[in-house]
Amino acid sequence: MDIKKITPMTFSDSLFSLEGISKKTIEEHLKLYQGYVNKYNEINEKISKLTDEDYAGANQVFSKVRELKTELSFAWGGVINHEMYFSHLGHKKGTTGSEPSGDLLKQINNDFGSLERFKKDAKATGISARGWVWTAWNSREKRLFNYLGDSQNTFLVWKAKPILALDTYEHAYFIDYGANRSGYIDIFFKNLNWEAIEKNFSKAVNSCECKDCTNC
Ligand code: FE
Repeated sequence: MDIKKITPMTFSDSLFSLEGISKKTIEEHLKLYQGYVNKYNEINEKISKLTDEDYAGANQVFSKVRELKTELSFAWGGVINHEMYFSHLGHKKGTTGSEPSGDLLKQINNDFGSLERFKKDAKATGISARGWVWTAWNSREKRLFNYLGDSQNTFLVWKAKPILALDTYEHAYFIDYGANRSGYIDIFFKNLNWEAIEKNFSKAVNSCECKDCTNC
């Protein structure tokens, strides 16, 4: 069986000079990301080697199949969530940051009333989450929504494509903020590269090829 290994993404240098999120935090956080990549490859390899005996022993309480399939989605979530998180943090060289504009701002105003309320909703969702907040485009409802995720693999909200990912695990902020998650979320918003998020939004909106259907 041909199992392709995934490799870690490289991110912009601006990730290492954020306002209020230290280089040390990012370096440690990237080690965790690398760990998810490694484990994803390791689990895939093990799945490719499952024996007839392993398949016959499949069981919902405990079995090798259950363990590998559960942890595969956890590792994959850890990879994809962090790639989105790191990709939209850090401003372009020589700029002091941006705010959403154009179609994305219009959609935010439409679905949340204002940018301020969007941020308030995302922050409160982040304080309430045990892992992640994803602002996602719900293609059935045609709206943006801040979804709450308690784990790396609770991202499977059908018809919802994430455009912004906020990591609320303690490792994302404890070195710099201790238990002050609220302070971390405020600074997270200040460091966002909205141009990257606008690209994610545009891709999400245009990913359905049959625009007005209710099946995609
Ligand atoms: Fe993380």
